[in-house]
Amino acid sequence: MTGAASAQVLAVEGLKKHFPVQRGLLRRTVAHVQAVDGVSFTIGAGETLCLVGESGCGKSTVGKLILRFIEPTEGRIMLGGTDIASLDPNTMRQYRRNAQMVFQDPYASLNPRLTAGTIVGEPLENFGEMGAAEREQRVAAVLERVGLRAEAMRKYPFEFSGGQRQRLGIARALAVNPALIIADEPVSALDVSVQAQVLNLLMDLQDEFKLAYLFISHDLGVVEHIGHRIAVMYLGKIVEVAPKEALFAAALHPYTQALIDAAPLPDPRVRRERLMIEGDVPSPINPPPGCRFHTRCPFAVARCRTEEPALRETVPGRLVACHLRRNGDVGPLGRQVP
Ligand code: SF4
Repeated sequence: MTGAASAQVLAVEGLKKHFPVQRGLLRRTVAHVQAVDGVSFTIGAGETLCLVGESGCGKSTVGKLILRFIEPTEGRIMLGGTDIASLDPNTMRQYRRNAQMVFQDPYASLNPRLTAGTIVGEPLENFGEMGAAEREQRVAAVLERVGLRAEAMRKYPFEFSGGQRQRLGIARALAVNPALIIADEPVSALDVSVQAQVLNLLMDLQDEFKLAYLFISHDLGVVEHIGHRIAVMYLGKIVEVAPKEALFAAALHPYTQALIDAAPLPDPRVRRERLMIEGDVPSPINPPPGCRFHTRCPFAVARCRTEEPALRETVPGRLVACHLRRNGDVGPLGRQVP
């Protein structure tokens, strides 16, 4: 499934977030952290776009920008056809019901002093559309839909297991009938046995309600389970976007290939050739010129150090930002120059 195949729910264009670095008594801005630097993508109804990359690559910042938990430096965020990046706070509040978030740590994101019923009913109350009795009915129905009993609404978060708490987080997001759910590492704090249950629940809910998901994760195994398309981020930029099957069959960008090769194999006796990348991710305060990956790329040529590669469609439905990728080429990258 692609964004083009279904009604578009979200379109992000040229999104940037540069955080000022301030020093001294006068708090002068001496530099900027380029956390997100010109990110564009779309998500359709019923589609899951996974945003992957190492920690610090900017993927969680993208999620917060879309919900305007933090303000973008530049760019457009089209949610259901409206540019929400420029809405005033009051109008934004109404739009926020269309895009909800599921957080990584369900325990930290649930107020321990509130019952499950209050937690799930809070967004409904905030939007002021239902009376108390109708709200309680809606909460009971949503709790049951995520696999919890309606009586659970009287319990407090500490009375639930980790997996149940994440179901509660999903119920809260679902209660207001959003079109888009941004899930930021929603299963990484859960036991492996529970992870699959929560992922399957998210997939069932998507089928039923045609939800669009932006699924943020560092775990390629999880992404392979739930994603339709994958966008790979490196140092604040998207370097590759592809349908899941195509990406795992033959990654076009060397960074994607290295990420896939670094993931553990289910059978430890199986060996495979790995594309090794060395060194640490450079600072986003002063990212390398040209291709940001050139300091770690085993295929880098002179052009990579000076000229930034554009994210372009080299294969139908697939985008990559690499000077060495020719149109139609999906083979392994060599040390050739185009
Ligand atoms: Fe490597 Fe150059 Fe391609 Fe960047 S543009 S990924 S440095 S080969």
